Order: sequence, then C-alpha cells, then structure tokens
Amino acid sequence: MVDFCIIGSGVSGSTIAHLLSKKYSVHILDKARGPGGRASNKRFKQNLSFDHGVQYISPKSKEFRNLIKILCKKKHAKIWSGIHLDFTFEKKDKSKKFIGTKGNNFISKYYTKKIKKSFQSPVKSIFKNKYFWEIKLNNNENIQAKSLILTCPFPQLKKIAGKYLEKKISNLKIYMEPNITTMLAFKNQKTVPISSIKFNDDILIWAAYENSKNRFNSSNSLWTLQSSIKWARKNINNYKENKKVENTLISKFLNFTGYKKNKIIFKKTHGWKYSYNLHGSPFKSYWNKKLRLGLCADWFIGPKVENAWLSANDLAKKIK
Ligand SMILES: Cc1cc2nc3c(=O)[nH]c(=O)nc-3n(C[C@H](O)[C@H](O)[C@H](O)COP(=O)(O)OP(=O)(O)OC[C@H]3O[C@@H](n4cnc5c(N)ncnc54)[C@H](O)[C@@H]3O)c2cc1C
Repeated sequence: MVDFCIIGSGVSGSTIAHLLSKKYSVHILDKARGPGGRASNKRFKQNLSFDHGVQYISPKSKEFRNLIKILCKKKHAKIWSGIHLDFTFEKKDKSKKFIGTKGNNFISKYYTKKIKKSFQSPVKSIFKNKYFWEIKLNNNENIQAKSLILTCPFPQLKKIAGKYLEKKISNLKIYMEPNITTMLAFKNQKTVPISSIKFNDDILIWAAYENSKNRFNSSNSLWTLQSSIKWARKNINNYKENKKVENTLISKFLNFTGYKKNKIIFKKTHGWKYSYNLHGSPFKSYWNKKLRLGLCADWFIGPKVENAWLSANDLAKKIK
C-alpha cells in the first residue's frame, strides 16, 4: 500500500507528488494518456504538435521564478521569443513568456520522472474505511493508499469526493470558465516572423504560431486558436455536433490573417469545459488530517499554472 495516492498529473498533482516523494511512497493516477493536465501538449502525427491548453508561463512570485530559471538552465524551458502582436488596448504586458522546450507540460514531466504513475486510469469512486483509502478505477481495479490527494477541477472534485468534503469546501462558489481551442495546420506556407497574436474580438482572442517555438522543422504552418470565454460559454456544450462553432473560429482567423481555407490540411477542435477559475477562493489548499485527505489545484488561488504550483506547495507545508 502506498503512503499517498494522487489523482491528477497536472502541475498541482505533479508538484505535490514531487514534494511528498522526498519522504513518502507516492502513486499518481490520471485519466489522460500522459502528464500535464491542462498544460498538456497534443501530438497527432509527426510534426503536428500543439500546446492546446497552457500557452505560456509568466512567473510572478520569486519562488516560482526560481523554478522556471532552473528549468531553463536544464533546457526543459525557454523564453518564447519573437513578435507577440497585441491588438487589444490593454496595458502592455512586458513580462517574459516561458514555454517548454518540447511541450508546455514540462513541469509535470520534470517532477514525475521518477514517480510511479498510471495513465488512462480514470478514478470512478473513492472510499475511506477505518484504516485506508480505496480508490476504484473505471476498469474496477482497486488501489489502496494511506492518504489521498485530489487535484481535479472543482466540479470533477465534487463528483468524486463530494461526501468527504467539509461544507467550507463543498459550498465554495467556484466557477470554472470554458474555452474552445482549435488546432490548425496549413500546407506549405512561408514562415512568418510572428509568435502569437492577441485579437481584439468577441470570438477569437488568441492565436499561437507553433512553428515559432522551434521544436520542429516543417514547411506546414501550425496555429493554435483560442476563443473568448463569453463565446465559449454559449457553445461549449454543442461544439462537437455543431460544426458551425469550429468554422466560425477558423473563419475569424482566416479573415484576420489572410491564410487560405483551401490550404488547411489538418484541423481539430477541443472544448475545455473547465479551463480556469478567474477569482480564486479564501483558501490556498486543503488538508484533513483525520481523513488524510488533501486537495490542491489552481482554482484555489487563480487561473494560472503558477497558482497550481503555489497551491501544491501550500498543501505540502500543511502535511508536514
Ligand atoms: C485553454 C487554456 C489555456 C490556458 N492558458 C494558460 C496560460 O497561458 N498560462 C497559464 O499559466 N495558465 C493557463 N491556463 C491554466 C492552466 O492550465 C491551469 O491553471 C493549470 O494547468 C492547472 O493545473 P492543475 O494541476 O491544478 O489542474 P489540471 O491540469 O486540470 O490537472 C488535473 C488532472 O486531473 C486529471 N483527472 C481529473 N479527473 C480525474 C479522474 N476522475 N481520474 C483520474 N484523473 C483525473 C486530469 O486528467 C488532469 O490531468 C490555461 C488553461 C486552459 C484550459
């Protein structure tokens, strides 16, 4: 039996796993195919690679900045250089943009390298007996652990662990905003000297030029488009059946940039039902010593990778 079972290999799950593994045995379970959660990198065929969740990291706290500095030195991360166009009239953001050298799931990959982990392992239910936790997977496999940590988005957490949560957690008003993301490849396009575009639009708000990250050589141009929250709220529940949703986002991009529809050789749209919580909560993480149940995730603090990392660090202190 392991000391800690951790549900989720996103930034918060992998950070807490790394911190606890210095003293305890740890096993990570994730329903996805690989590490990273909302920071994962999507690969389709050779050279079709997209950061379809997290776009970049701009560290604010000294501690997190130090981690990114170390990861840059180890060549897991780098500055996303080039021209970042901004057509909004917001205050200029002068902070540096960091990305993974191979994909934006670099924090999870780095932290979990030596940790036991099982992917494609969706947790169906959890049960606490007098002595330990029993974690039931979709394939009916049972895993036992002395302590359990959940790192899922708030609605998923309530679904799995609802009956074990204190009211101060289950009654939190956390709203996780949706996002619709489209990944596009255009055939034989000239390289452009642009890394990203921030649009002043109600539907399409962001496009990242994947080629600018210098992870691969390709004559095709790869772009990741992200929608506004407001538009995603209206369309998140029907984007799969209603092709108009994907087409609207793509048309916006074609109109803004002049790329041609007949040059599209690949398109794939992903709907993020629970992208981020814009407002945080009164807590940074949660630890119930009696139940040996812990929670950490970005949504406790805010909408960024850094918030997930801070939440995991806060939980590690509580457990100690
Ligand atoms: C479209 C989009 C763009 C973003 N852009 C940025 C950005 O540019 N910069 C930035 O800093 N942040 C950005 N964010 C926010 C960032 O992704 C999150 O703050 C951060 O990745 C959250 O990490 P986490 O570990 O708390 O949660 P997650 O990454 O969601 O990790 C939770 C993990 O739990 C797993 N899981 C859930 N339920 C189960 C289950 N039942 N069984 C097993 N496993 C389960 C999931 O598969 C997942 O891997 C973006 C998010 C989205 C969606």
